[in-house]
Amino acid sequence: MTVPEILVLGSVNRDLIVHAPRLPLPGETLRGQRFGSCLGGKGANQAVAAARLGARVALAARVGLLENGAAMVEQLKGEGVDTRAVAQPADEVPGVALIVVGAEDAENQIVTVAGSNGTLPLEQVEALELTGLRWLVAQQELPLQSVARAFERAHAAGVKTILNAAPFRPGCEALLPLVDLLVVNELEAQALITTLGGGTAEPEALARALRAKGPAAVLVSLGAEGLCWVDAEGTRRVPARKVKAVDTVGAGDTLVGALVTALAEGQLVADALAFAQAAAAIAVSRPGVQDAMPRRAEVQESLK
Ligand code: ADP
Repeated sequence: MTVPEILVLGSVNRDLIVHAPRLPLPGETLRGQRFGSCLGGKGANQAVAAARLGARVALAARVGLLENGAAMVEQLKGEGVDTRAVAQPADEVPGVALIVVGAEDAENQIVTVAGSNGTLPLEQVEALELTGLRWLVAQQELPLQSVARAFERAHAAGVKTILNAAPFRPGCEALLPLVDLLVVNELEAQALITTLGGGTAEPEALARALRAKGPAAVLVSLGAEGLCWVDAEGTRRVPARKVKAVDTVGAGDTLVGALVTALAEGQLVADALAFAQAAAAIAVSRPGVQDAMPRRAEVQESLK
């Protein structure tokens, strides 16, 4: 097996999705129209996004084998993700997200249970193989102390780090000095700044204020408005590509997976941002999360 250049440290969930005429009221039972189950979790999503685009990517995660967790790991392998660092405890239940989608996808309700994601121990992080890696990527659906330790090790080993500070969790600001690239959406950026004692501000100002806390670069994603990027060379705003959005769930995960793929290839920042936005735009134009993630050829075609 080839040596990975990207390691994603993150969650794996089973998403259980029902479509209903509207969201239920407390205590109410509704008849839904459709049910589907698919692989999710921000770690799995970002690893799959990168693998589809041709990256050599490994996932470090914890997927309990109860409730058919083994099938989730097999699915990741089938996507070309290196799963050697996925722990599979026999007596734990994998993470789950229970999702109710209301009429015409206009609203949803989600409850997640961390399951085995919530028990990923420091020992697993200590055992991670970092040789040959260029980038370590993490989100915030695992114990934050495990993420912090992984970033410390990466830092010491000269591996660059990306923190996608999603979902926002108090305490995550302590990670910022160990982060090379921080990726947040506008709400997460605002929540982080508020935690750090700042007020409301424009995305550019938020990104600059977050950069002052440690990261060499900060990306604030702005949905259909695109993104704003701040690094030592200054601030740039990059508009999103114009598409008809069908399902924007997971847009940020596709953006991160595509961005790290491009950066690991040594693409210039401007090119990497264009590549990532093109991938995310394709993903939002189709239903589903991983189902909607594009392959390399599609992204290249859309960039022509
Ligand atoms: P998150 O999913 O983390 O909330 P955003 O909603 O900011 O993240 O979306 C991430 C990226 O996905 C954006 O920067 C943009 O490139 C792309 N994107 C999101 N929504 C749209 C849209 N309606 N049209 C085109 N691109 C979109």
